[in-house]
Amino acid sequence: MGLRQQYGAFNTALRSLYNDDILQLADKEKPFEFDDSLFEAAASLVYENGGFDISQLEDPAARAVINETLRVLSTAIDSGLPHEVPATVRYALENNAFIFSGFKTFHSMREIGLSMVTDKGEMKPFNDFMTDVKKINQMYNHNYLYAEYNHAVGTSLMAAKWHDFEQDGDRYDLQYRTANDGKVREEHALLHETTLPASDPFWDKYFPPNGWNCRCTVVQVRKGKYPTSDPAMAMLRGDNCTDGVKQRMFRYNPGKTMELFPPKHPYRKAPAEVKKAIDGYTPIEWTPKTVKEAEQFYRDKLGVNCSLAGFTNKNMAQIESIFRSVEEHFRRFPEIKKETLFVGTIRGRIQLLAAAKLAEYKKLYPTMSEESLSKWATSWARKIGACKNCYAYSHGAAKDMGLSGIAFNTSWAGDKIDTSLKNDVKSKWHPPGCDTLKAVFDHELGHEIDRLLGLHRHPEFLKIFGAEHPKGKSHITENLSTYGNTNSKEFIAEAWSEYLNNETPRPIAAAVGMLIKKLYAEKFQSPSSGVSSP
Ligand SMILES: [Zn+2]
Repeated sequence: MGLRQQYGAFNTALRSLYNDDILQLADKEKPFEFDDSLFEAAASLVYENGGFDISQLEDPAARAVINETLRVLSTAIDSGLPHEVPATVRYALENNAFIFSGFKTFHSMREIGLSMVTDKGEMKPFNDFMTDVKKINQMYNHNYLYAEYNHAVGTSLMAAKWHDFEQDGDRYDLQYRTANDGKVREEHALLHETTLPASDPFWDKYFPPNGWNCRCTVVQVRKGKYPTSDPAMAMLRGDNCTDGVKQRMFRYNPGKTMELFPPKHPYRKAPAEVKKAIDGYTPIEWTPKTVKEAEQFYRDKLGVNCSLAGFTNKNMAQIESIFRSVEEHFRRFPEIKKETLFVGTIRGRIQLLAAAKLAEYKKLYPTMSEESLSKWATSWARKIGACKNCYAYSHGAAKDMGLSGIAFNTSWAGDKIDTSLKNDVKSKWHPPGCDTLKAVFDHELGHEIDRLLGLHRHPEFLKIFGAEHPKGKSHITENLSTYGNTNSKEFIAEAWSEYLNNETPRPIAAAVGMLIKKLYAEKFQSPSSGVSSP
């Protein structure tokens, strides 16, 4: 099936998913406005480029569509969430809305690209093209968005409920309730009054909403007031009554995963690069074959000082991992470049520090022997730059020499760090997904972002921290990492690393990730331009 036919099927699927009745209401009862001119501007971008490709998602015109979708969905979150909901919940849901908006924009823009050519493969005149664009806009940003808006209101409400229930543990039972009127779907009626403790796995799968416009809810009931359901039977009933293609994707608990929309929503079917592109980043091709070439590649492509002393040509994969971490951060947060002037190894940084110091000493003490000056310079450099057991560090000193930045401890090079990181993740010392060298650098760059934004003292961050920290050390270990208990700065760096490396970041990581994106955009990017392109 060609891509074009695929979109025919895709839209049919969405229409049947969202239900035609709901979609027809979209024009009359819409609770939001969508700025159509932004979508038309993105369409013009596609037309001018002669088609759509994923990297266009980095363009301000595409970012504006993503942000406009996010804005609408955020108003849905606001109307669903009660006021006293913890900041972690709100930010984590917004983060999910952002990613959803990105995937959605990808599909609508790709469909624009396909509509540019006629069935015979000829380019359509601009006016005909724009007529199609208006139809596509109506479909995605009004009709579908209406169904999505309503769903987001429902999931936000239920996510907040779950959060409250969780605080009480198993002190109460939870009971499934339908709206209990003539309009309840038969399948959901079967679940009515299912009563189980909050810790029962039933709630991982069948916490409402269990469909679009599902009006079911869950309430806390006093233990013993109602007979508890048989857990296996309840699960079987849940499985049976949601055993359709369209129903199955609702088997998740939005309060646990902070997902506004089913994780298997059709929008999520997209090439792997899309997720990074939504965040404004598409990686460049990696060409170096040797350590020497890699050093030059770092200098050319990142604009940093670099030495990779301590690495050998066998470590090229690790050298690329470090590059990828830094590349992504520089692209998404260009302001960091002002702080991160060096990227490389600790051994290399010490060598460069010593060389810079030696040059200074030579000017100051022209009569001294080079040998003793060199000894002093080296011992100074070691004092500043050495770190015995750490994997890597982020270091603000020696900025005047161009040597502030991040560095890797090559005594961990090769398998050694991989083995060690695997154990760290297993023991929950570091978050899930963070068992790679890239994750180590993402952590270090999290510190650089923190310095740049003053995040660990920022009132919005303190709301998140203040909601999680008082729940105790084991709470942080279970929901972030043991190392995240160290202090608020490590809490940020751990959350950020999880955000970038865990396939499905948990609520704390999602909340910190969203807040970082938001604060960076507020501080360094004008609201009209959205998130800037490189
Ligand atoms: Zn750290």
